[in-house]
Amino acid sequence: MNHIFGPVPSRRLGRSLGIDVIPAKTCSFDCIYCESGPTTHLSVIRENFADPAEVLRQLDDFFRRSPGGADAITFSSAGEPTLYLQLGELIRQIKKKYREIPLAVLTNGSLLWDAAVRKELLEADIVVPSLDAATPGIFSRINRPHPSLRLEEVIEGIRAFRKDYRGRLHLEIMLVSGANDCPEELSKLARRAIDMEADVIELNTVARPPAIEGTSGLPEDQMRCAASFFPQDKTAIIGAFHEDPARSGEKDLAARILQTIERRPCTIRELSASLGVAEERLEAESILLRDSEKLVMLDFAGKVFLCPPRRGGCQT
Ligand code: SF4
Repeated sequence: MNHIFGPVPSRRLGRSLGIDVIPAKTCSFDCIYCESGPTTHLSVIRENFADPAEVLRQLDDFFRRSPGGADAITFSSAGEPTLYLQLGELIRQIKKKYREIPLAVLTNGSLLWDAAVRKELLEADIVVPSLDAATPGIFSRINRPHPSLRLEEVIEGIRAFRKDYRGRLHLEIMLVSGANDCPEELSKLARRAIDMEADVIELNTVARPPAIEGTSGLPEDQMRCAASFFPQDKTAIIGAFHEDPARSGEKDLAARILQTIERRPCTIRELSASLGVAEERLEAESILLRDSEKLVMLDFAGKVFLCPPRRGGCQT
């Protein structure tokens, strides 16, 4: 398994080199908005999905080929990273070797009720748990969790982690049109977020092709309105990623495009920012890849996303 991908355009971390230690798509949630498609293995059992030595070897390989090639290292999978049993050990080894590069873990927070999982994340520089619901009905509707998970336990787990954690805690809330964007739920979410003492509250919305058709995000004015429910000094609406597209060369372009979209659908503009290749060049290569059925182009929210062929759907 290839454990390293990207760097991918991250709206919070810049050029983020992804580490994937979870087989797609193994998760404790099956979120309706998931950009990696439906969960095929809904689980809360932690397993040894990957050999830490092999992950480190691939990481070393990347930095040997591209010194300075990433602004951050991020555990971010088409699944839930804390389901990886050796996550703590791998974090420790990466921080020992690449101390100067911020290490982030994106998690749905569902296993933070477990003290062992909380302890494993303490060495990360940034932890980004998500919380999309403050009431159990909305939790079930949006996140479609493993039957053993209870919203109150998930919330308590994040709060307990905050008490011990000295790094930066960014709480991400994904707003879904017609699901968690009513004033009552936003007020409750805001109270929960304040309780958690996050350094930053990041409001996100559905901006890529979702797992469940018909799931949609909020337009900009409604995102601003939603943000007014949260503490102004620490709340950010996550916007589109923009960066100077002049970083690296065009070697192995087809492989790099496919590797990047494997975990996360991207627009041509995002790919350009991530790979440092002109948009025109990417467009031409993507059309060749589409014609040879290695990727599909999906229309979503007025943008065209390049996705792996398994996503299917309406192609352009
Ligand atoms: S969005 Fe994250 S937590 Fe939700 S199903 Fe996808 S990978 Fe799992």
